[in-house]
Amino acid sequence: MIAPLDLFLDQQREQVITWQRELTTRPALGPESGGEGETAKAAWLAQELAAMGIPHITHINCPDPRVPSGERPNIVAVLPGKQKKTLWLVGHMDVVPAGDAALWRTPPFTLHVEGDYVYGRGVEDNQQGIVSAMLAAKTLLANKVEPELSLGLLFVADEETGMRHGLPHMLAANPGLIQPGDLVVVPDTGVADSSKIQIAEKSCLWLKFTIHGKQCHASVPDQGINSLVVASACILALEELYRRFRDKNLLFSPSWSTFVPSKKEANVENINTIPGKDVFYMDCRLLPGHTPEAVLERCRSIVDEVAKNFSTTVDIEVAHQLSGASATPEDAEVVTRLQHALQATMGKTATLYGAGGQTLASPLRAMGIPAAVWATLEPNPHVPNERSSIPHTIGDAKVFLHMLMNA
Ligand SMILES: [Zn+2]
Repeated sequence: MIAPLDLFLDQQREQVITWQRELTTRPALGPESGGEGETAKAAWLAQELAAMGIPHITHINCPDPRVPSGERPNIVAVLPGKQKKTLWLVGHMDVVPAGDAALWRTPPFTLHVEGDYVYGRGVEDNQQGIVSAMLAAKTLLANKVEPELSLGLLFVADEETGMRHGLPHMLAANPGLIQPGDLVVVPDTGVADSSKIQIAEKSCLWLKFTIHGKQCHASVPDQGINSLVVASACILALEELYRRFRDKNLLFSPSWSTFVPSKKEANVENINTIPGKDVFYMDCRLLPGHTPEAVLERCRSIVDEVAKNFSTTVDIEVAHQLSGASATPEDAEVVTRLQHALQATMGKTATLYGAGGQTLASPLRAMGIPAAVWATLEPNPHVPNERSSIPHTIGDAKVFLHMLMNA
């Protein structure tokens, strides 16, 4: 049963290029990145899915007054199989900005094809997963094959900047969408030899620290309180978090929780002014067992201590928080079926791991839905000259088909 479908898929190189070209030319940047959202990309996708013959396409849009269309689009497309039980493939439509244009060899939002690779912003993250999922659907429809399991495609908005308007909205608006027993794969993290399946994520906590100093002329520093110096002292003192929260868990890489000062807002414009206000941020990734609440509490006491020494105050706000849901069990059906499909189609024995980065699996696991994160990726998300392998895109579609057909 599988062989003719694999042959069909092997002939889909031009289809991959066409779809990647259409997706890349519609930059789906969120309003946080100065973009108009995913509306144009979603409209094209919905039209393409309908043209392919997918019978059930639903839109679950989320209001967002910051974008011209007033909403962030989310698409559900279902191709029924013999069973109601569904394999859901979940991809995100939004992309991150191109970054420094000078670092790109070709324009980021115009697809460039070179050998087995396509280049452009979004081609890997996450258009490759979307295209693999569409290829699986097209292969079934074009060959008039009814799969054993139903195939569900979920293409969502707003993954890169907080997720709020995407999958979590979709799941809240349609609690019964994913049924117990359904299988969910998120093709948005992976390695080039296909051999790793991500089953757990650390909790994510982003903190914003605001230092209230006192601005003055730099020639008379004793008349002010230098907020940059206080910020620096806080950053160094916060290293203590590594000693306080020192659990190890070998499922994860790195195997410890991380506390990383990252963004720093601009302060004064001139060199001869002592800044009176500084803002910096910290990205924390926490192992199961380390709660965001405990980390926040410890941060408060660390910076209060520093602030006291400088006779000033430091505010902490939570900029973003996503508590780590329990890991997907190693023997969850989606994991074992994916492992089996990898063995059967690629001869790969896949290993399981946990990661620091959040994916669309987080809100799913938070609802008790065991999701597996897997794809064959370079990986090279968010970099200039982002690229995606056409053979890997097709190979992953074969794995999905195997999961659908062999129930
Ligand atoms: Zn992604």
